[in-house]
Amino acid sequence: MAGNWKMYKTAKDTRAYFAKFLPLVNGVADREIVLCPPFPNLEAAVSEAQGSQVKIGAQNLYWGKEGAVTGEVSGPMIHAVGCTHVIIAHSERREYFNESEEDVTRKTKAALEAQLNPIVCVGERLGERESGQTERVLREQFQGGIGPLAPEEFAQIVIAYEPVWAIGTGKTATPEIAEEAHRMIREEARRRFGEDAAAKVRILYGGSVKPENVKSLMAKEEIDGVLVGGASLDPQSFAAIVNF
Ligand code: PEP
Repeated sequence: MAGNWKMYKTAKDTRAYFAKFLPLVNGVADREIVLCPPFPNLEAAVSEAQGSQVKIGAQNLYWGKEGAVTGEVSGPMIHAVGCTHVIIAHSERREYFNESEEDVTRKTKAALEAQLNPIVCVGERLGERESGQTERVLREQFQGGIGPLAPEEFAQIVIAYEPVWAIGTGKTATPEIAEEAHRMIREEARRRFGEDAAAKVRILYGGSVKPENVKSLMAKEEIDGVLVGGASLDPQSFAAIVNF
Protein backbone atom coordinates (compact mmCIF):
# COMPACT_ATOMS: atom_id res chain seq x y z
CA MET A 1 0.00 0.00 0.00
CA ALA A 2 2.02 2.92 -1.31
CA GLY A 3 1.32 6.65 -1.19
CA ASN A 4 2.75 9.20 -3.60
CA TRP A 5 2.55 12.73 -2.26
CA LYS A 6 3.77 14.26 -5.51
CA MET A 7 4.76 17.94 -5.02
CA TYR A 8 2.70 18.53 -1.89
CA LYS A 9 3.53 19.21 1.79
CA THR A 10 6.46 20.76 3.67
CA ALA A 11 8.58 19.07 6.35
CA LYS A 12 6.31 20.61 9.00
CA ASP A 13 3.22 19.20 7.26
CA THR A 14 5.01 15.84 7.08
CA ARG A 15 5.49 15.72 10.85
CA ALA A 16 1.86 16.66 11.46
CA TYR A 17 0.74 13.96 8.99
CA PHE A 18 2.67 11.20 10.76
CA ALA A 19 1.34 12.24 14.16
CA LYS A 20 -2.17 11.53 12.83
CA PHE A 21 -1.37 8.63 10.50
CA LEU A 22 0.75 6.31 12.65
CA PRO A 23 -1.84 5.61 15.37
CA LEU A 24 -4.34 4.70 12.62
CA VAL A 25 -2.10 1.96 11.19
CA ASN A 26 -0.55 0.84 14.45
CA GLY A 27 -0.28 -2.94 14.59
CA VAL A 28 -0.92 -3.51 10.87
CA ALA A 29 1.52 -6.30 10.10
CA ASP A 30 0.15 -8.21 7.12
CA ARG A 31 0.82 -5.55 4.47
CA GLU A 32 3.66 -3.26 3.56
CA ILE A 33 3.05 0.50 3.88
CA VAL A 34 5.24 2.94 1.95
CA LEU A 35 4.95 6.73 1.79
CA CYS A 36 6.80 8.78 -0.82
CA PRO A 37 7.09 12.48 0.08
CA PRO A 38 9.04 15.11 -1.90
CA PHE A 39 12.85 15.09 -1.46
CA PRO A 40 13.12 17.89 1.15
CA ASN A 41 10.74 16.00 3.48
CA LEU A 42 12.39 12.58 3.34
CA GLU A 43 14.48 13.14 6.42
CA ALA A 44 11.48 14.29 8.48
CA ALA A 45 9.42 11.34 7.21
CA VAL A 46 12.14 8.78 8.02
CA SER A 47 12.57 10.25 11.47
CA GLU A 48 8.80 10.27 12.16
CA ALA A 49 8.35 6.71 10.83
CA GLN A 50 11.17 5.31 12.93
CA GLY A 51 9.99 2.44 15.13
CA SER A 52 6.85 1.97 13.02
CA GLN A 53 6.28 -0.41 10.13
CA VAL A 54 5.90 2.49 7.65
CA LYS A 55 8.63 2.68 5.05
CA ILE A 56 9.69 5.78 3.18
CA GLY A 57 10.44 6.18 -0.50
CA ALA A 58 11.48 8.92 -2.91
CA GLN A 59 9.53 9.78 -6.06
CA ASN A 60 12.45 9.78 -8.50
CA LEU A 61 16.22 9.40 -8.68
CA TYR A 62 19.10 10.03 -11.05
CA TRP A 63 21.06 6.99 -12.24
CA GLY A 64 24.56 8.31 -11.47
CA LYS A 65 26.00 8.04 -7.96
CA GLU A 66 27.29 11.64 -7.84
CA GLY A 67 28.60 14.28 -10.21
CA ALA A 68 27.99 17.56 -11.96
CA VAL A 69 24.27 17.01 -12.54
CA THR A 70 22.63 20.10 -11.09
CA GLY A 71 19.25 19.56 -9.51
CA GLU A 72 19.36 15.77 -9.45
CA VAL A 73 19.44 13.34 -6.50
CA SER A 74 21.14 9.92 -6.56
CA GLY A 75 20.18 6.51 -5.21
CA PRO A 76 22.97 6.42 -2.57
CA MET A 77 21.80 9.84 -1.30
CA ILE A 78 18.22 8.63 -0.97
CA HIS A 79 19.37 5.43 0.74
CA ALA A 80 21.61 7.39 3.13
CA VAL A 81 18.59 9.36 4.37
CA GLY A 82 16.96 6.07 5.37
CA CYS A 83 14.62 5.44 2.46
CA THR A 84 13.85 1.90 1.34
CA HIS A 85 11.87 2.59 -1.85
CA VAL A 86 11.78 4.81 -4.91
CA ILE A 87 9.09 5.39 -7.54
CA ILE A 88 10.41 5.19 -11.09
CA ALA A 89 8.81 6.40 -14.33
CA HIS A 90 5.63 7.85 -12.87
CA SER A 91 3.52 9.00 -15.83
CA GLU A 92 4.10 12.64 -14.78
CA ARG A 93 7.85 12.00 -15.15
CA ARG A 94 7.31 10.35 -18.54
CA GLU A 95 5.03 13.18 -19.68
CA TYR A 96 6.67 16.37 -18.32
CA PHE A 97 10.32 15.27 -18.21
CA ASN A 98 10.37 13.04 -21.29
CA GLU A 99 11.60 9.98 -19.41
CA SER A 100 12.22 7.18 -21.87
CA GLU A 101 12.24 3.40 -21.51
CA GLU A 102 16.02 3.60 -21.48
CA ASP A 103 15.81 5.95 -18.47
CA VAL A 104 13.49 3.46 -16.75
CA THR A 105 16.08 0.69 -17.06
CA ARG A 106 18.96 2.89 -15.97
CA LYS A 107 17.05 4.28 -12.98
CA THR A 108 15.80 0.86 -11.89
CA LYS A 109 19.31 -0.60 -11.99
CA ALA A 110 20.68 2.42 -10.10
CA ALA A 111 17.97 2.06 -7.44
CA LEU A 112 18.79 -1.62 -6.91
CA GLU A 113 22.49 -0.86 -6.74
CA ALA A 114 21.69 1.65 -3.97
CA GLN A 115 19.65 -1.02 -2.12
CA LEU A 116 16.34 0.70 -2.84
CA ASN A 117 13.19 -1.17 -3.88
CA PRO A 118 12.01 0.28 -7.19
CA ILE A 119 8.29 0.78 -7.84
CA VAL A 120 8.25 0.97 -11.64
CA CYS A 121 5.20 2.58 -13.24
CA VAL A 122 3.62 1.68 -16.57
CA GLY A 123 0.28 2.68 -18.11
CA GLU A 124 -1.48 3.85 -21.23
CA ARG A 125 -2.91 7.28 -22.09
CA LEU A 126 -6.62 7.87 -22.74
CA GLY A 127 -6.19 8.08 -26.53
CA GLU A 128 -4.20 4.87 -26.54
CA ARG A 129 -6.90 3.04 -24.60
CA GLU A 130 -9.67 4.46 -26.78
CA SER A 131 -7.88 3.38 -29.95
CA GLY A 132 -7.36 -0.16 -28.67
CA GLN A 133 -3.62 0.19 -28.10
CA THR A 134 -3.46 -0.60 -24.38
CA GLU A 135 -1.87 -4.00 -24.84
CA ARG A 136 0.72 -2.71 -27.32
CA VAL A 137 1.68 0.20 -25.00
CA LEU A 138 2.02 -2.04 -21.94
CA ARG A 139 4.09 -4.56 -23.90
CA GLU A 140 6.37 -1.83 -25.26
CA GLN A 141 6.85 -0.26 -21.84
CA PHE A 142 7.57 -3.64 -20.31
CA GLN A 143 9.93 -4.80 -23.05
CA GLY A 144 11.69 -1.42 -23.32
CA GLY A 145 12.07 -0.46 -19.65
CA ILE A 146 11.77 -3.63 -17.56
CA GLY A 147 12.77 -6.34 -20.05
CA PRO A 148 16.48 -5.40 -20.09
CA LEU A 149 16.80 -6.08 -16.34
CA ALA A 150 18.62 -9.23 -15.26
CA PRO A 151 16.34 -11.91 -13.74
CA GLU A 152 17.78 -11.28 -10.26
CA GLU A 153 17.02 -7.56 -10.69
CA PHE A 154 13.47 -8.24 -11.87
CA ALA A 155 12.89 -10.36 -8.77
CA GLN A 156 13.33 -7.24 -6.63
CA ILE A 157 11.05 -4.76 -8.34
CA VAL A 158 7.41 -3.86 -7.80
CA ILE A 159 5.39 -2.82 -10.86
CA ALA A 160 2.62 -0.22 -10.68
CA TYR A 161 -0.03 -0.21 -13.40
CA GLU A 162 -1.24 3.39 -13.59
CA PRO A 163 -3.48 4.21 -16.53
CA VAL A 164 -2.78 7.88 -17.24
CA TRP A 165 -6.47 8.63 -17.79
CA ALA A 166 -7.23 7.53 -14.21
CA ILE A 167 -4.54 9.56 -12.44
CA GLY A 168 -5.91 12.53 -10.53
CA THR A 169 -9.06 12.50 -12.67
CA GLY A 170 -11.45 10.74 -10.32
CA LYS A 171 -11.95 8.11 -13.06
CA THR A 172 -10.85 4.83 -11.53
CA ALA A 173 -10.35 1.88 -13.80
CA THR A 174 -13.00 -0.69 -12.96
CA PRO A 175 -11.55 -3.68 -11.10
CA GLU A 176 -12.12 -5.68 -14.32
CA ILE A 177 -10.20 -3.21 -16.51
CA ALA A 178 -7.36 -3.06 -14.00
CA GLU A 179 -7.23 -6.83 -13.70
CA GLU A 180 -7.10 -7.27 -17.47
CA ALA A 181 -4.13 -4.89 -17.70
CA HIS A 182 -2.38 -6.59 -14.80
CA ARG A 183 -2.82 -9.90 -16.59
CA MET A 184 -1.20 -8.46 -19.74
CA ILE A 185 1.76 -7.22 -17.69
CA ARG A 186 2.13 -10.55 -15.92
CA GLU A 187 1.99 -12.33 -19.26
CA GLU A 188 4.88 -10.18 -20.52
CA ALA A 189 6.78 -10.98 -17.32
CA ARG A 190 6.17 -14.68 -17.90
CA ARG A 191 7.51 -14.48 -21.46
CA ARG A 192 10.68 -12.67 -20.45
CA PHE A 193 11.42 -13.95 -16.93
CA GLY A 194 9.49 -17.23 -16.63
CA GLU A 195 6.51 -18.61 -14.75
CA ASP A 196 7.88 -18.37 -11.24
CA ALA A 197 9.17 -14.78 -11.50
CA ALA A 198 5.89 -13.65 -13.09
CA ALA A 199 3.81 -15.27 -10.35
CA LYS A 200 5.91 -13.62 -7.65
CA VAL A 201 6.17 -10.04 -8.95
CA ARG A 202 3.82 -7.66 -7.16
CA ILE A 203 1.69 -5.46 -9.42
CA LEU A 204 0.03 -2.44 -7.80
CA TYR A 205 -2.90 -0.55 -9.30
CA GLY A 206 -2.81 3.27 -9.26
CA GLY A 207 -5.34 5.83 -10.49
CA SER A 208 -7.91 7.59 -8.28
CA VAL A 209 -7.82 4.91 -5.57
CA LYS A 210 -10.03 6.00 -2.64
CA PRO A 211 -11.30 4.41 0.58
CA GLU A 212 -14.56 3.74 -1.30
CA ASN A 213 -13.09 1.73 -4.17
CA VAL A 214 -10.00 0.06 -2.69
CA LYS A 215 -11.85 -3.03 -1.49
CA SER A 216 -13.27 -3.95 -4.88
CA LEU A 217 -9.88 -3.41 -6.55
CA MET A 218 -8.02 -5.45 -3.94
CA ALA A 219 -10.57 -8.26 -4.31
CA LYS A 220 -9.07 -9.03 -7.73
CA GLU A 221 -6.51 -11.77 -7.64
CA GLU A 222 -4.18 -9.97 -10.05
CA ILE A 223 -4.08 -6.77 -7.94
CA ASP A 224 -1.44 -7.08 -5.23
CA GLY A 225 -1.59 -3.56 -3.83
CA VAL A 226 -2.25 0.07 -4.70
CA LEU A 227 -0.26 3.22 -5.44
CA VAL A 228 -2.27 6.18 -4.20
CA GLY A 229 -1.75 9.83 -5.12
CA GLY A 230 -4.36 12.37 -4.00
CA ALA A 231 -6.00 10.22 -1.34
CA SER A 232 -2.65 9.56 0.36
CA LEU A 233 -2.34 13.26 1.27
CA ASP A 234 -4.94 12.92 3.98
CA PRO A 235 -3.85 10.66 6.87
CA GLN A 236 -7.38 9.44 7.58
CA SER A 237 -8.11 8.59 4.00
CA PHE A 238 -4.77 6.83 3.40
CA ALA A 239 -5.16 4.90 6.66
CA ALA A 240 -8.63 3.79 5.53
CA ILE A 241 -7.10 2.57 2.27
CA VAL A 242 -4.30 0.75 4.07
CA ASN A 243 -6.82 -0.86 6.43
CA PHE A 244 -9.33 -1.69 3.67
C1 PEP B 1 -0.37 8.73 -8.60
O1 PEP B 1 0.06 9.86 -8.55
O2 PEP B 1 0.43 7.79 -8.67
C2 PEP B 1 -1.82 8.51 -8.58
C3 PEP B 1 -2.28 7.30 -8.77
O3 PEP B 1 -2.61 9.60 -8.33
P1 PEP B 1 -4.17 9.62 -7.91
O4 PEP B 1 -4.37 8.56 -6.88
O5 PEP B 1 -4.41 11.00 -7.39
O6 PEP B 1 -4.94 9.33 -9.16
